[in-house]
Amino acid sequence: MSAEREQRIESLIQAVVRDFRETARTTGVSAPDPELIDVLRRVPRDDFVPDSGSGYAWQNRALPIGHGQTISQPFVVALMTQLLELKADSRVLEIGTGSGYQAAILAELAGEVYSIEVVPELASAAAARLARLGYQNVQVRTGNGREGWPEAAPFDGVIVTAGADSIPPALVEQLRVGGRLVIPVDTQWSGQDLLVCVKEEDGSLREQRALSVIFVPLVGGR
Ligand code: SAH
Repeated sequence: MSAEREQRIESLIQAVVRDFRETARTTGVSAPDPELIDVLRRVPRDDFVPDSGSGYAWQNRALPIGHGQTISQPFVVALMTQLLELKADSRVLEIGTGSGYQAAILAELAGEVYSIEVVPELASAAAARLARLGYQNVQVRTGNGREGWPEAAPFDGVIVTAGADSIPPALVEQLRVGGRLVIPVDTQWSGQDLLVCVKEEDGSLREQRALSVIFVPLVGGR
């Protein structure tokens, strides 16, 4: 690995650590787990952005990936991942595969990852990219993520990486009791509140607001 690339990765890690610290009051997490930091170092974000954006791949910002969509900001990817509290055998559902970067991060930390993308071209490009990078525990399919992936349920974690107007009921149904749902939900004004929800014994959700975020919209009705 080139020394320059290594240096860019280290500055990204520092930026992510700083963002965790500065948002700790609302997120409740003051620092990324060391294992997560290793994963951020290891997953080649430069392979997930188009060539035109490769100079920015290691900056702590969202970048365009075509079809009007974006690869999320590394801090937000890291935060959402940590909020899921994954274990090595967790089964995770992601809505909004996009570039596949978040899916790769999940695949490094969880047992099985199921990811749904509504834009067919993005879904096939991400699936090919993840396969090329050797991720065997990720399945990608094209579809409307609001319906979830019933055949693979229940999930220990569900992560939605597009802004929803409200929480899609199917995603709650497919979450196991005690499982966690991390989802940006539109506020009345602009952007979304990133919510961390835990499913209770009675099937209801205990919700907590972690951060104000801005995601592209979750399409496909309400
Ligand atoms: N997690 C991605 C970033 C996602 S951007 C990454 O790591 O790169 C949000 C993605 O959600 C876009 O690709 C968009 O096409 C997709 N999306 C929007 N609405 C969706 C829906 N109803 N079902 C599945 N995917 C959806």
